[in-house]
Amino acid sequence: MSEPAAVQRNDEHITLFAEQENIHPLKVSGTFRKLKWFFLVNMLAAYYIAPFLRWDRGPNAPGQAILFDIPNRRFYMGPIEIWPQEVYYFTGVLMVASLLLFLTTAVAGRVWCGFWCPQTIWTDLFVMVERWIEGDRRKRIALDKAPWNFDKIRKRVLKHSVWIVISWWTGGALVLYFADAYQLVGGLTTDVTTFLGQIFSLQIPTMPVYITAWVWISIFAGTTYLLAGIAREQVCIYMCPWPRIQAALTDPEALNVTYRYDRGEPRGSVKKQQKVAATGAATGDCIDCNQCVWVCPTGTDIRLGMQLSCINCGLCIDACNNIMAKVGRPTGLIAFDTDLNIERRMKGDQNSFKPVRPRTLIYLVALLIAIGLMGWSLMNRTVTGINVLHDRNPLYVEEGDGSVMNGFTVRMLNMERKNRRFTLHVKGPDGAKITKVSEGMFVFKKSPEGLFIVNVKPDTTRELRVIVVLRAGKANVRSEPLTFFAKDLETGEQLSRSDFFKGPGQ
Ligand code: SF4
Ligand code: SF4
Repeated sequence: MSEPAAVQRNDEHITLFAEQENIHPLKVSGTFRKLKWFFLVNMLAAYYIAPFLRWDRGPNAPGQAILFDIPNRRFYMGPIEIWPQEVYYFTGVLMVASLLLFLTTAVAGRVWCGFWCPQTIWTDLFVMVERWIEGDRRKRIALDKAPWNFDKIRKRVLKHSVWIVISWWTGGALVLYFADAYQLVGGLTTDVTTFLGQIFSLQIPTMPVYITAWVWISIFAGTTYLLAGIAREQVCIYMCPWPRIQAALTDPEALNVTYRYDRGEPRGSVKKQQKVAATGAATGDCIDCNQCVWVCPTGTDIRLGMQLSCINCGLCIDACNNIMAKVGRPTGLIAFDTDLNIERRMKGDQNSFKPVRPRTLIYLVALLIAIGLMGWSLMNRTVTGINVLHDRNPLYVEEGDGSVMNGFTVRMLNMERKNRRFTLHVKGPDGAKITKVSEGMFVFKKSPEGLFIVNVKPDTTRELRVIVVLRAGKANVRSEPLTFFAKDLETGEQLSRSDFFKGPGQ
């Protein structure tokens, strides 16, 4: 690779950015390649199919298994329904994902980058298409250098067309997570047939009905095409912050794809090594075939040591193992190992792999705690709730008869799919009573039993204005605890929320 930013200098100018070299990875077979195919196929299948999976939540509820319902401000994932006030669950999920990433990094370096990162998955897919159309490494390099002729134009047009189709599918699948997938696919298909009908009948096309979806599909498709088709390894090397952060999360005992120079050096071609060996001098196992560099999706020469551009994908291990098998030498010249182990071996000591270390233990314990807390809070999640907010200004109002009035905003929450009816009452300073409950212009009437009854429809919240009065003679309070109770008329379940009653008292 050419020298990166800020070092290419001559008398006239300083070059701040290295020119992008096209990397054309060579096809390789082996264990890590198979693993990468496995994750690629399964993750892409899950991504494209998941929006079409159904989940029966009963009447009046969306039937899509995974749905970000932005207009109604809900997120659905199977039996779980997250409301806006529960966004902390997303924080929890991010924490669990981060700790899992920390743990895998501390054990085996950037394996996330090499096997599971969407950038890697889609780039792999795009390179597969490129190889399928333009041929393997040598042919692609030759095509790059060839003058523009019919064959080159045909191949390039075909490649970019397939990339654009994949990008459209990718963008299209993403928007399906934000609306009913079947309905949206039907609507988008109608938009397309209408558009084609208008074009073929020489009419000016009208605005598509699902214009918002089309705009988002275009944005996501464009991003996929640019990142996976054009930028590729540049994203991993220059744009992604993860390689910079991971240095703080790992240590020399973490396994990384490592060239075992203790075994490989001095390197040289088979012929050269035979000549050297004939003189009685030592030779290494590396035959300097460059296969490990040519298969690398980021163009890294791992023999130069651990580098920021290495995504730990293991393809160079496959390539080198194949070569070692061909020349009849033991495999594992490149392997998941540590530089510490190489030093140990050079001193004649034993290999030592330490997946259990204080760092990995801390990450593991933190991860288990985070998963435990998430699970506990999900299992103990309430589907009804009451929130109370005391008026800030005025804190209280003194009536002419000496009584004191406090105003509150009470929000009743019903996350269930059935109607709930609650009675409202308060407990606090002796004599405190709810005297008025309203919602906008609507004022609730008391039941014959003297209770305010509030009906909360399924899957809704209701914001009420509640007035609490402390009658004259008892009103000499400054700030006393006040608890609101909402009791379900059907089940008897009682919800409560505490606040304070404010008054002019000393
Ligand atoms: S593939 Fe193996 S033998 Fe060939 S250059 Fe790389 S390390 Fe050396
Ligand atoms: S050096 Fe090896 S492990 Fe690192 S990115 Fe290249 S092929 Fe993958």
